[in-house]
Amino acid sequence: MPTSSVARSHRAASDELHDRVILVTGAGNGIGRAVSLALASHGATVILSGRTVRRLEKTHDDILAAGGPQPGIAPLNLEKALADDYDRTAQAIATTYGRLDGLLHNAGILGQLSPIDHYDVPTWCRVMHVNVTAAFALTQVCLPLLRKSQDASVVFTSSGVGRQGRALWGAYAVSKFAVEGLSEVLADETRGSAIRVNSINPGATRTAMRLEAYPAEDRSRLADPATLVAPYLYLLGPASRGVSGERFDCQ
Ligand code: NDP
Repeated sequence: MPTSSVARSHRAASDELHDRVILVTGAGNGIGRAVSLALASHGATVILSGRTVRRLEKTHDDILAAGGPQPGIAPLNLEKALADDYDRTAQAIATTYGRLDGLLHNAGILGQLSPIDHYDVPTWCRVMHVNVTAAFALTQVCLPLLRKSQDASVVFTSSGVGRQGRALWGAYAVSKFAVEGLSEVLADETRGSAIRVNSINPGATRTAMRLEAYPAEDRSRLADPATLVAPYLYLLGPASRGVSGERFDCQ
């Protein structure tokens, strides 16, 4: 069984992801931006998805400035998107690229840190929708595109609190448990096919979400997103072929 340490120590060759078409959600900042830049620097054509277009444009421009392959931009607000928006996204990918070799579900929201007694119900629904239901809906419309690939990889983003519940983490923790479940169900359903499905826990990382959760901590002790990309390159590239239904940790 491949371990997280294998993924963490993976050193991808400069062209290892050449010709792979990979959709990344939440590509405008934080971990999604760092992973998108790394994927492109190893040859992947990255389709940058997210809520805030100007951030996606910045990632797009930085990929080109670094000499990476022309990325695509696929704005999608996972809180508001309806069936037509998902269909349009998949249709645009089909028209432009004809297939998907990778799908990284990275976008997510924290919601609030609160005991269950006081957890705001609309916030609960919003977190579950963005973190779980939207990932399910996007996966569903992308499956025909993933089936057109010889070697497709789906990666869901989990969290430490998605593997061990912790007080105050409310809907965020529950949504990450659900993401782990979704990853396992899909891995089982795609067993024996060219699609593999795994989950990844980035661990404590210096991003906007972490700042929201721990506003007073010493941020210099946190991992920079750019230092965590090796397991993503491993999982979304050819090195992890045949690996499915597993959980990985970046730290
Ligand atoms: P950030 O807050 O930096 O980034 C979150 C991303 O999700 C942003 O690009 C944001 O888009 C996007 N997003 C949020 N809401 C929506 C929406 N409605 N529609 C589309 N996109 C949306 O967080 P991180 O980089 O830290 O988090 C990335 C992933 O890693 C998340 O799934 C998180 O749960 C997970 N994680 C993070 C940890 C950490 O310590 N940072 C630890 C464990 C897990 P934009 O803001 O551009 O609109």
